[in-house]
Amino acid sequence: MILAIESSCDESALARFDPACGIAGEWVHSQIDLHKEYGGVVPDLASREHLKNFFPLLEAASLAAERGTITQIAVTNGPGLAGCLALGIAFARSLGLAWDVPVVGVNHLRGHAYSPFIALHEAAPERFAAEAFDELLPHLGLIVSGGNTILFEIDTGRKLTVLAETVDDAAGEALDKGAKLLGLPYPGGPQVERLAASGDSKVFDFPKAIAPRNERRFSFSGLKTSLRYRLEKMGDAELEGAMPDLCAGYQRAVIDQLIGKTKHLIQAGDYSSLGLSGGVSNNKALRAAMERLAGRYRMPCLIAQPKHTGDNAGMIAFAAYADPDALALDDFSIEPALRLAKR
Ligand code: ADP
Ligand code: MG
Repeated sequence: MILAIESSCDESALARFDPACGIAGEWVHSQIDLHKEYGGVVPDLASREHLKNFFPLLEAASLAAERGTITQIAVTNGPGLAGCLALGIAFARSLGLAWDVPVVGVNHLRGHAYSPFIALHEAAPERFAAEAFDELLPHLGLIVSGGNTILFEIDTGRKLTVLAETVDDAAGEALDKGAKLLGLPYPGGPQVERLAASGDSKVFDFPKAIAPRNERRFSFSGLKTSLRYRLEKMGDAELEGAMPDLCAGYQRAVIDQLIGKTKHLIQAGDYSSLGLSGGVSNNKALRAAMERLAGRYRMPCLIAQPKHTGDNAGMIAFAAYADPDALALDDFSIEPALRLAKR
């Protein structure tokens, strides 16, 4: 049984994972309410909160009683906020020492990359290990979170390569910053989704793909600027009435760019499956667009379950199990700027 610990940003999380059955339990303490009033995550507050949260989480997981079943501890060692990562690693190493169990470092982004496969493993663990995973390779995956927008592939040798990244803002960051301009609370992505549901995405025309279609990069900062200029020309009353249409148009522009680049890479390659993960993959319109895209190319579409889209420890445990490179990180220095893979 693997015990995983995640504390890279504003969620303190623990999970237990059994390679023969799947995730045996997972516990998350979200700090969103704490950071809301500041309009974003405050690193120092986040570290203090992790320190407070881990021991109650450990109790909730009744690990003290079952510690004999834990054979490995996996902990996020980057990317993330330095102080938060350091707390998670100190906690993991302390448990490892006390229980005499090995501790491994896991790249948070590898957790996101592998999270779409968790449900498949859980449905048939033996078949997953023997053949189901290999049948889906080469895999084209899209990670969309607050800090990252990455298209990557896992080849038939299970080697992971980055294919395209954002050159400025991440998709989640674009939604959060756009929401801030609209006067919506943090985190903005879910707020934009909520208002977009009753809006018409065709009323406002936002720039769709700033980077040329065939270029392997995303860019979202132009979109945010275009929203700012548009808002400067609007009065308060006009803005209030236009909120749903603005959100729908803005969200559509983000999704169209994500889907456009993914489609371009599907056409340029020969993939056996498509994946979607990260906090923004919680968005229903994006999930539906990705499923439609996969359907058009007759590819299986794996999308992380909503509980595994944001920061969670289930995906960290699963990456420690499924990713052949996950265990290579055996030095426990924190890596705030760790990348998914070398390009
Ligand atoms: P990170 O750890 O890089 O900040 P997460 O994976 O924790 O990212 O995801 C957080 C991001 O996901 C935020 O930018 C948030 O606005 C976005 N997000 C969460 N839910 C939704 C949603 N339903 N629609 C769009 N964006 C969302
Ligand atoms: Mg994250």
